[in-house]
Amino acid sequence: LTPVPSDIEISRAQIPKPVNQLAEEVGLLPEELEAYGRSKAKVCLSLLDRLHTQPDGKYVLVAGITPTPLGEGKSTVTIGLVQALSAHLSLNSFACLRQPSQGPTFGVKGGAAGGGYAQVIPMEEFNLHLTGDIHAITAANNLVAAAIDARMLHEATQSDKALFNRLVPSVNGVRKFSPIQFSRLQRLGIDKTNPASLTPEEVTSFVRLDLDPSKITWQRVFDIYEIMAILALADSLEDMKNRLARMVVGTSRSGQPVTTEDLGVSGALTVLMKDAIKPTLMQTLEGTPVFVHAGPFANIAHGNSSVLADKLALKLVGRDGFVVTEAGFGADIGMEKFFNIKCRASGLRPNVVVLVATIRALKMHGGGPNVSAGAPLPKEYIDENLSLVAAGCHSNLKKQIQIAHLFGIPVVVALNVFKTDTQAEIDLVCEIAKGCGASDAVPCNHWAQGGRGSIKLAQAVNEAASRPSNFQFLYNIEMPIADKIRTIAQKVYGADDIELSPAAKDKIDYYNQQGYGLLPICMAKTHLSLSHMPDKKGAPTGFVLPIRDVRASIGAGFIYPLVGTMSTMPGLPTRPCFYDIDLDPVTGEITGLF
Ligand code: ADP
Repeated sequence: LTPVPSDIEISRAQIPKPVNQLAEEVGLLPEELEAYGRSKAKVCLSLLDRLHTQPDGKYVLVAGITPTPLGEGKSTVTIGLVQALSAHLSLNSFACLRQPSQGPTFGVKGGAAGGGYAQVIPMEEFNLHLTGDIHAITAANNLVAAAIDARMLHEATQSDKALFNRLVPSVNGVRKFSPIQFSRLQRLGIDKTNPASLTPEEVTSFVRLDLDPSKITWQRVFDIYEIMAILALADSLEDMKNRLARMVVGTSRSGQPVTTEDLGVSGALTVLMKDAIKPTLMQTLEGTPVFVHAGPFANIAHGNSSVLADKLALKLVGRDGFVVTEAGFGADIGMEKFFNIKCRASGLRPNVVVLVATIRALKMHGGGPNVSAGAPLPKEYIDENLSLVAAGCHSNLKKQIQIAHLFGIPVVVALNVFKTDTQAEIDLVCEIAKGCGASDAVPCNHWAQGGRGSIKLAQAVNEAASRPSNFQFLYNIEMPIADKIRTIAQKVYGADDIELSPAAKDKIDYYNQQGYGLLPICMAKTHLSLSHMPDKKGAPTGFVLPIRDVRASIGAGFIYPLVGTMSTMPGLPTRPCFYDIDLDPVTGEITGLF
């Protein structure tokens, strides 16, 4: 329709096919499906065993230029591309998307199910509770907090002997240690064939965690970062269980890390998360399959949907099919972490990067005026302006293409067309992008036309995926922590060097002592610039990247340096989206999600 109706109007106008019909079309057996209503179902991980001899399909990553308040449309491109591949080129394809948290939905974006005629439906279900995974994570965080509180109280109020008798009750005179308690005994170097015979010293070292209240990472306990990142990186139930057990939630007074396993709560966390580990099957507006799973932020965490969803989808599409997944924020953040963290964890290797750009965002990188989200657009973004477009292409777009090439993967630039773009501007972007080494650069109109508007993009991706890629990691995992950070800063962001604060240096020393030095790096940096300065657009040079602090997510398996003034808890804007979100009690219709 012209003009294109709102996202929610388009979503509501299309009745999704029943999820069991969709599941049958993609090759799932009825017993591999757990339906949640008519249009969503969880998919059992046993599918991986059934299809383990099936060759994987082609793996495509959608990344973007540095985001601006004008919006780029990575999710929209991801969905438009699978709609084009499946419905218009008859190639099996799956989109793997992150589940939005309440931050995007109620804060700035009002939803993340794509937009226009390239959406996952029903968009309300996608954007809100889905199948309860985020609620499971919230419950798991609360349980960790309760376990910490209870343990500190009981250690403060009971003698070690009394506490030991409660932690390890004797049944008919025999002490029964749980498997988790046994592994803690072993970690403490206490090797007892008869644990009932623990000496008083051994009892004390077994019982007393002696948590230092000032060194409990409450923020991470209550934020969804680490458990969400664990869900996204785990490749089996067992792996998730081990990662949950390794989570460091505090430090003892003697400086030793305290894990959820030490608290005895890691088994219970796994129980809370046992259904969350199964990806949720949904569909696009054109009835093509989508896995929605996990939603780690791209700043503090690694910003990619789950390893398991990608693995299941790669098997389901088969050798000639495509799995298209999206990395959060710009290629310097989401894509770098996709390669260095997610691909390292999964062992999967992508074939193509699709780099999303818009003319309006390129104009801002080329020197156009700053605009806040929702404010009226200055004329530079409405009228043709070839010099701003060229400057944006030669700075940010070129740099982001180069970043993808550092990993040896071919790049197709997807120019997400807005109605204000002129043909001369579109042609200019495509010409410069190809001149900068992109395999291809194509305009796409899926927002206004659905999959039909992205056929050229689908053809370009199909063509690029048939070429051999030469994937390589950016850094060797055995490099010292500071050198890994420096490599990302210099090669990806274009910094001259890094500057570690004294606190950051101390933390690095501590992590090395604890044996965490071999983890990959997850930079916590502003997404609004390639540098640490959000207002520096384009491709800044001549700066030194300040590292304020360094933290570790041991369960997720990465070290995360805090760059500049980067906050670990995103706040809400002055006028959050929730001002406009409401429910009509008569019709039951939701308003304000768009
Ligand atoms: P990202 O994934 O980069 O954050 P999204 O794909 O979620 O961006 O899109 C953000 C918003 O921009 C959505 O509401 C979407 O409808 C809108 N949008 C995306 N592409 C276009 C376009 N070509 N024309 C108009 N609006 C668009």
